[in-house]
Amino acid sequence: MSSIQTNLNKISKQILIAATSCGRLPDQVQLIAVSKRKSVDIVKQAIKAGVLNLGENYIQEAIEKIDIIGKDAACWHFIGHLQSNKARVAVQYFDIIHTVDSHKLAKEINKQAQKIGKIQKILVQVNISDEKNKSGTTREDTFELVSAISSLEHISLQGLMCMPPYFSEPEKARHYFKQLKALKQDIMARGLENVFLDHLSMGMSNDFKVAIEEGATMVRIGTSIFGERD
Ligand SMILES: *Cc1c(COP(=O)(O)O)cnc(C)c1O
Repeated sequence: MSSIQTNLNKISKQILIAATSCGRLPDQVQLIAVSKRKSVDIVKQAIKAGVLNLGENYIQEAIEKIDIIGKDAACWHFIGHLQSNKARVAVQYFDIIHTVDSHKLAKEINKQAQKIGKIQKILVQVNISDEKNKSGTTREDTFELVSAISSLEHISLQGLMCMPPYFSEPEKARHYFKQLKALKQDIMARGLENVFLDHLSMGMSNDFKVAIEEGATMVRIGTSIFGERD
């Protein structure tokens, strides 16, 4: 068995345990294998081992891989920082974009999606830990951004995403995952028309179990599947 297969089996089991131990169904949690800086060959191995969802961070690297591997070989998630001038390519290549953090970017995605007759799935990225150099909208501005996005006809807003700081002790991230879920509930309670924040994209190799306990529906895992990146 390949090491990727072994790692995947282990992670899937851990997801199952984390979900069931807090009364959730394991199929409510999607595993997104984060393959940034990993070769085409390795990504192909992951698909062969049963990976359905792949996460990529860098547009140029991603399109080179997707052109070879094929758009239909997996569900492709864009999880890196996206500049408006790359929105066209992102819309062409990705099934879902996790990192929308401004109205300007959302409008550009909407425009590009309209051009090719697509409804682009997105998530709004929230800078939940209020870090200066991190992408994401502030908690305070999230409602306004969600509200603005809800009127864009070629975007389907699916939920919220966050990336707390790295802690060697994953319990320390719990507070941030709780905050993202509370923010989602707060926005939902305000009853915006056509807004359904079904997804919470949160949790990485180090802290995905805690994220699942706090309601993650998508966990983004790289290192634990593919090993350390160069
Ligand atoms: C790299 C990355 C991940 C995966 O991180 P690991 O610690 O390797 O699991 C998840 N989410 C985002 C946004 C990333 O950039």
